[in-house]
This record gives sequence, C-alpha cells and structure tokens, in this order.
Amino acid sequence: MISPDVTGASNTNVPSVGPSRPKNIIIMIGDGMGPAYTTAYRYYKDNPETEEIEQTVFDRLLVGMSSTYPASVSGYVTDSAASATALATGFKSYNGAISVDIEKRPLPTLMEKAKSLGLATGIAVTSQVNHATPAAFLVHNESRNNYIDIAQAYIDTDADVILGGGQQYFPASLLTQFTEKGYQHITEFTQLDSITTPKVLGLFADVQLPWAINDNRSHKLSKMTQKAIDLLSQNQQGFVLLVEGSLIDWAGHSNDIATAMGEMDEFAAAIEVVEQFVRQSKDTLVVITADHNTGGLSVGANDKYEWKPEVLSRVKASPDEIANQAIANEQWQTVVTELIGFTPSDTELTALDNARLQGNEALTIALRKIIDVHSNTGWTSGGHTAVDVQVFSAGPGARLFGGHQDNTDIANKVFSLLPESAVKQ
Ligand SMILES: [Zn+2]
Repeated sequence: MISPDVTGASNTNVPSVGPSRPKNIIIMIGDGMGPAYTTAYRYYKDNPETEEIEQTVFDRLLVGMSSTYPASVSGYVTDSAASATALATGFKSYNGAISVDIEKRPLPTLMEKAKSLGLATGIAVTSQVNHATPAAFLVHNESRNNYIDIAQAYIDTDADVILGGGQQYFPASLLTQFTEKGYQHITEFTQLDSITTPKVLGLFADVQLPWAINDNRSHKLSKMTQKAIDLLSQNQQGFVLLVEGSLIDWAGHSNDIATAMGEMDEFAAAIEVVEQFVRQSKDTLVVITADHNTGGLSVGANDKYEWKPEVLSRVKASPDEIANQAIANEQWQTVVTELIGFTPSDTELTALDNARLQGNEALTIALRKIIDVHSNTGWTSGGHTAVDVQVFSAGPGARLFGGHQDNTDIANKVFSLLPESAVKQ
C-alpha cells in the first residue's frame, strides 16, 4: 500500500501547503502525447525575439515518467483503451479493453470508487465522450469499438458532468433517459454558459470537436474544463474529473504536425486553467500524463540539425481544411500559399497539383509532407510507439508521482489518495 502521507508538490512554484490528502482529484490525459510532443510544443511556443527559451506549463509541472505497456497478450505497444484501463483501474489488460481484465471481467474504476465515496465525477474531452479513454474511466466493455453500448452504459454511471462530442452515439431514446434522470442536455457550445448546476450532458459535435487550429483558438477544452470544475466543486465532499486532450493522438496518427501543435496548445491551455485552480484551492491534486506516444514524432529529421517551429506557427488551417478549400477554388495556389503560410517550391507545387487531381485525401497527405519538409519534422509510424511518457503533477500528494512508475502505479497512487470512507454530510 502506498502511503498518502506525502504533502505538496515538488514544483517550486506551486506552494506545498495544504492537506496531505486532496479533496478533489483532476486527471488530465494528453492522448498520444509522448515526450517529443511536449518538447516540440516548447519550441513552437518559444518567442524568437528573446534569447531565452520560455518554459511551458509542461516544464513547470513535470515530476516523473511512466511506462505504458499493456497486458502481455498485447505485447509492448498499448492502445488508448488498454492504457486508459490501466490508468482508471490499476490493472493491465489487452488492447481494446474498456476496464475489463483479459478474461473480460469488469475491473472497478476510479470513477466508480469515487461515486461510492460520495464524490462527484465528470469528464471533459475533445473526442466523442464515449471514446476509449473516457469510456474506461466510466464503464466496462470488452471492446472500445462498441460505441453504442458504451454510450448506453453511461446512463448508469451517475457521472455529474459529461462534456465533449459524440451526438451520433446518443439516440433520442437514450437522451430521454438522461433528461428523466435530471440531466440537462445541450448541443450548442454557447449553451454551456447557461449551465449553473449539475448534471449536464453536453454533446457539441456529431463525433469529435473541430481541430483547434481551425477553431479560432476558441479553447473549447479550457472552457469545458472550467465549467466542469465550477459544477463539480458544488459537491462539498469533493470530486474526480477526467480531462482529455483527445485529438493530439488523432493528429499524430495522421502525422500532421501543424494540427498536432494546435491540439497541444488546446491541451496546455486547459492545464493552465487547472493549474490556476490547484494554486487557489490548495486541496486539489492534478495528475497529467499521456496514455502512450503516437506517430513516433521526431523533432528534427533527415540527418539535419534543425527544427523550424516558426513554419508551423504560420500554418493557418489544418491540411485537410486547406485541401478542402484548394479543391473548391480554381486559384488553388493562392489559397494554399495563404493558408500554409509559405510559398511552396515549383517542384512542390507540381506535386500538389497532381495530388489535387486525385482528391482531398491525396492533397491533404501532400500538404502534410510539405509542412514536414519545411519544418524538418519526422515520423516513424502512423500508429503508436512504446516509449515511456511523462507525468506532471501539482497539489497534495503530487510527490507520489515522481520518478519512474508504471501506468498502473499512477492509478494505484490515485486510489490511495481517495478518502478511506464516505464522508457523512
Ligand atoms: Zn491512438
């Protein structure tokens, strides 16, 4: 058993005063956010006008590392489901498992334990709310792909806040069950302001939320995170909240560095919201990690000692959106040059012209390649890799997460920090 009697954060800028056991626990997962992503993000955010390289929120809160391997039946490279199962239950399972063991038996989750102790629970994510990571914190299923079953099972979780995308998985009959249970159901992001009490089911997109890079830096994840904190804080006994920057992984699978940096910025802004709350409340622990690394991102590539994040800062839309607009417009070269933020060479323009004739997907891939070449970004995979991920933490108990650990250890430490029994009101 891990002793929870370790007080405060190891980060010098977060005061280590406060209780030894947190009242509230916020878990934040950057899906696919291996160490190269936080490194790349630091240089992407660097102000080139100053000699100094400014720290990011990740640099401020770093405390340790975590291995991510799944149960041995699935080898060393995890998927989001097995990793989320580990983080939500403390047990390893097979790739695809949603908080069930390798015999497909349900494993008790952190959210279930929190509920049984009288804590409020919530999730705020940029994917569909029933995607692998949030699903493993809330329900059990033998496969992450059973989206309809997973959405249906959410009705029995009693979660107080459910915010993200996924309208297509919630049929009218299911929504009726939610409203009959007292949930406010909203679908427009602007409606979020009008919600002042739990419970809420906010589904703001058919599947995932828009790419941050195409969304005018509206920082929807930050707003959902702040709202979730405001609502869950109304429970005097405390809360457990899961926040996921889900789409870092999706951009990584596509080997799309400009879009990935937009998603990193979205996630970092949400972490800053939580960092602020942790500093003020002093009784809240935040633990931030990634479920795995995606894409084998390389900050510099092709034998050249350079990486040019300034190229990425000038990209004004995701390559798939640039491709949409370029295909719809006869003056496509002007459109591309404007949105990509630099003038492609004649050879690149010829390649883009050929790709444009083949359609959106070919043009999107060609645009990503050109952005990689100009920024000198490398990738080794369209899937996940097994490299360890970082752990960031602040607040009461944060020191527990220092050094090397396994993803199941993270869960077991969080379990050890929950109240020992339900507090009677
Ligand atoms: Zn993935």
